[in-house]
Amino acid sequence: MKKVGFIGWRGMVGSVLMERMGEEKDFLKMESYFFSTSKGGEEAPVVANGYPKVLSSTDLKELMKMDILVSCQGGEFTLEMHPALRNSGWKGYWIDAASTLRMKSDSVIILDPVNRHIIQDSISKGMKDFIGGNCTVSLMLIALHGLFKADLVEWVSSMTYQAASGAGAKNMLELLAQMQTVGNKYGANPALGALEMEKEVNSLIASDSFPKANFGHPLALNILPWIDSEMPNGQSKEEWKAQVEANKILQTQKEIPIDGTCIRVGALRCHSQAMTIKLTKSVELATVESLIAEANPWVKLIPNNKAETLKKLTPASVSGTLNIPIGRVRKMTLGDQYLNAFTCGDQLLWGAAEPLRCTLRMLV
Ligand code: NAP
Repeated sequence: MKKVGFIGWRGMVGSVLMERMGEEKDFLKMESYFFSTSKGGEEAPVVANGYPKVLSSTDLKELMKMDILVSCQGGEFTLEMHPALRNSGWKGYWIDAASTLRMKSDSVIILDPVNRHIIQDSISKGMKDFIGGNCTVSLMLIALHGLFKADLVEWVSSMTYQAASGAGAKNMLELLAQMQTVGNKYGANPALGALEMEKEVNSLIASDSFPKANFGHPLALNILPWIDSEMPNGQSKEEWKAQVEANKILQTQKEIPIDGTCIRVGALRCHSQAMTIKLTKSVELATVESLIAEANPWVKLIPNNKAETLKKLTPASVSGTLNIPIGRVRKMTLGDQYLNAFTCGDQLLWGAAEPLRCTLRMLV
């Protein structure tokens, strides 16, 4: 059995990965070792074939004994330890949730439902670094897989509604603390009229005492139209990732433009995206729908009506599931080749942990 080392298993992505591996009985297929920067020497999680003690994640000697390392620890860890391992001659497989190595020429961005054949081919060619894609990009590609497969996408403009959890566990908790602060204010003044209450709440969320150490701004009752750092061309880094990562995942011959505005909203762990798609040619709506619906086991086409949309195409209904619903599919008044669509997905499952799990299964 292969020796697999897990780094970052205590974090949000790592915990979801552990949960999924437990559900799918993956631990039976490998010997598991748990590494941590802060919990070395403590009892390790109890799993089948698991080493009982947590090892230090900066212990190169122990890390180098592994056939496969899975890191959900973050970009700084990757930046430091990946070159250290490779420069010391470690030839094992590296599976990572962080973005650090995604665009390197010798890495593969993994998204099993969409590019399993590329992952398999890369393994057989001897590639060693397998990196999970950006959550929003992965979720969009699973939703639009059928159109990409049929070469029907000329370009996509995607406007995102990204959940707080994408910024990390502390941010997700901060959103809840912000909501609670607002709730307390309302609870203390239930007799105020709506407009008076709005004034009170607006000055509360703008005040220095409002909890916003992590986001830097109110997210409750607000939206934040900038995610990640600034790029020289005016895009945010999150917006920049869409085109470069999607084209790498799909290994397109001709670059498909993908651009839009990425926006943080007050959802907890599901990202949503409203997409305008320019098709390469005019295609019947029914054909478009069946291509989308049949592309992979995870995509779910939601009929374009109000009742089913509001029931099945929302973060609240998708959270915690592997389904990637896509709906609001219709031709736009812009022209016959312009398609409207909306999709949601759990960004900790297919957006983060699940692609890592699938590649790990392939490697063991
Ligand atoms: P995270 O929750 O902040 O966890 C990272 C590490 O923080 C843990 O492995 C743990 O390491 C340490 N830690 C410190 N205090 C902790 C506590 N109270 N509970 C749990 N862990 C604690 O990070 P993450 O959001 O999972 O992200 C990990 C990587 O995945 C990042 O590179 C991120 O960019 C990427 N990613 C994240 C998402 C997302 O939705 N958040 C999506 C896609 C990719 P020690 O055991 O060493 O202390």
